[in-house]
Amino acid sequence: MSNGTIFSKIIKGEVLADIVYQDEYITAFRDMLPQAPVHILIVPNLQIKTLNDVVDGDTHLLGRILMAAVGIAKNIGIAEDGYRLVMNCNKHGGQEVYHIHLHLLGGKPLGSILGA
Ligand code: AMP
Repeated sequence: MSNGTIFSKIIKGEVLADIVYQDEYITAFRDMLPQAPVHILIVPNLQIKTLNDVVDGDTHLLGRILMAAVGIAKNIGIAEDGYRLVMNCNKHGGQEVYHIHLHLLGGKPLGSILGA
């Protein structure tokens, strides 16, 4: 399915994580260091290192990631109050794991986007 990162191991079941959704294309699991009451990562099963590596053929996959985040937010009951979706890219974006992932954050008012 994929290689390399800790997320690849989670996707393959080699590393334990609290998986909340998985299908042929994507996996979603709870962040091990949550920055909000709800903090879930939605990742493609095949590794794409950064957003800069996305190509036209990934458009459908990116849509699935976004729709999965919305679906999970609805399922766990935070959609009405609202939530934040974040994707970090490279050093200045604060990316730590080089396997693209969408952060779904919510469960409380999150304040301004950069926490200022
Ligand atoms: P980023 O800084 O955007 O690359 O985010 C990486 C996120 O992955 C961080 O919020 C980490 O807490 C999270 N993370 C790293 N390793 C694991 C793991 N094994 N299980 C769950 N979350 C993880």
